[in-house]
Amino acid sequence: MRIVLLGAPGSGKGTQSQRLMHREHIPQVSTGDLLRAAVACGSKLGLKAKAAMEEGRLVEDALVLGMIRERLRKPDARRGFILDGFPRNLLQAQSLDRLLKKLRQPLDAVVQLEVDYAELVRRISGRRTCADCGRVFNVSTSPAQLIESEPCQSTGGCHRLIQRPDDNEATVAERLRVYEEKTRPLIEFYRARGLLRVINAEGSVEEVTERLEQALHALRRSSAPARGSTRPKARRPAARGPAARRAAKRTPRGKAKRAARVTRAAAAVRVTRTAARRAGRRRRPASPRGRVRR
Ligand code: ADP
Repeated sequence: MRIVLLGAPGSGKGTQSQRLMHREHIPQVSTGDLLRAAVACGSKLGLKAKAAMEEGRLVEDALVLGMIRERLRKPDARRGFILDGFPRNLLQAQSLDRLLKKLRQPLDAVVQLEVDYAELVRRISGRRTCADCGRVFNVSTSPAQLIESEPCQSTGGCHRLIQRPDDNEATVAERLRVYEEKTRPLIEFYRARGLLRVINAEGSVEEVTERLEQALHALRRSSAPARGSTRPKARRPAARGPAARRAAKRTPRGKAKRAARVTRAAAAVRVTRTAARRAGRRRRPASPRGRVRR
């Protein structure tokens, strides 16, 4: 399954993609995570991306696209993938389309996670990440006992919760503005291609997972390929036998073919008759009346 999770910052794309990744055994491809890793290791790409991320702007398209091309060509992405945080503008969506066409791996669906603006702000300000295992918590929704009761998978001890540097108030406002301006138009882009599914992403994490599952389940059941998808059309095997030939004659194409055959046959008959008439005139003896009497 190849899907895109679309939604504003704080809509739960990361949380839901991680759950989906474990259930479906397909990788979660998060451009945010890839960029954060590049920043953390101080790579050239990371250095270029850092300022934009800290200010809540989008990182340059060329950098993000290069990263995605490399990631989707890895063998584990052949079975499918969940794109989280990508594409984020029209140019990225069009480039993704071209790349997936080349790889012959069309998208199955784009799921949009709908969350109210005030709820987004509340979620982002309460978001904390464990500095060791990377697990995401929310101090405004998960009770402290729950966070403490589950040990860190990396250290075995308590989670070391930190706030993402771009989760501060000013940056959050800019990220939400950028989402409205650059990313929201993708909803129509994918709706027009028949790929969009919208789910209500408010409520508990489990409730949203349940809705996402239902949406994907419905998708799997509908065997018809999505309209506008880049999936190549299957060729129908040629029908054989007298019944198939009769049926073929009844189709508009069959009727047109037959009409063309009749016209050709009629033309051939006319040609033959004219030729025969001319030949007959040459062979026929001249009429006595036409003979010159001496
Ligand atoms: P969120 O969805 O909560 O904003 P992400 O972890 O997806 O968080 O992204 C964090 C930051 O990384 C973004 O604010 C942006 O600066 C950068 N980023 C992530 N994905 C992209 C992308 N596809 N194009 C450009 N910049 C991106």
